[in-house]
Amino acid sequence: MAVREILKMGDPRLLRVAQPVPEQAIGSDDLHRLVADMLDTMHAAHGAGLAAPQIGVDLQLVIFGSGQPNPRYPEAPVIPLTVLLNPVITALGQEQEEGWEGCLSVPGLRGVVPRWQRIRYQGLDPYGDSVDRTVDGFHARVVQHECDHLIGVLYPMRVRDFSRFGFTEVLFPGLDAASDD
Ligand code: ZN
Repeated sequence: MAVREILKMGDPRLLRVAQPVPEQAIGSDDLHRLVADMLDTMHAAHGAGLAAPQIGVDLQLVIFGSGQPNPRYPEAPVIPLTVLLNPVITALGQEQEEGWEGCLSVPGLRGVVPRWQRIRYQGLDPYGDSVDRTVDGFHARVVQHECDHLIGVLYPMRVRDFSRFGFTEVLFPGLDAASDD
């Protein structure tokens, strides 16, 4: 297990459409090692989620959640620690809501991004078992943010109002600016 370097916005590897995790890789030692590295990297950076492209791995693989309250979002509902392969998101309803986001690949900045309020997400866990959840609010936001990394989209590309985009330390003085998510 190892903490890997997180690519920053501007690196063309963050703009790729990621490849599906091949069937023969699911359950493999290589995949479990990759997931362990991603978990180490996310935890070291105090992130709420991480996508494989952020460490330069061109695969449809995201991790998010913690199973415990995020000190950076004490009000937010607890999201179970989830490893998700080859995810598919379906928006439920037309309702979008705005919320602040940050990204480990865009350190020091935050912006308001519209996201579907309620979604269903489906995929596989690293053992090949299916994951199928219907979620809303912050949980739905985190999943949409992470899965955007799999289609080469970083959250600033979804910001509509740049008067609500800026440096964390200016927008939220007092918040621990040493980490983003
Ligand atoms: Zn991100």
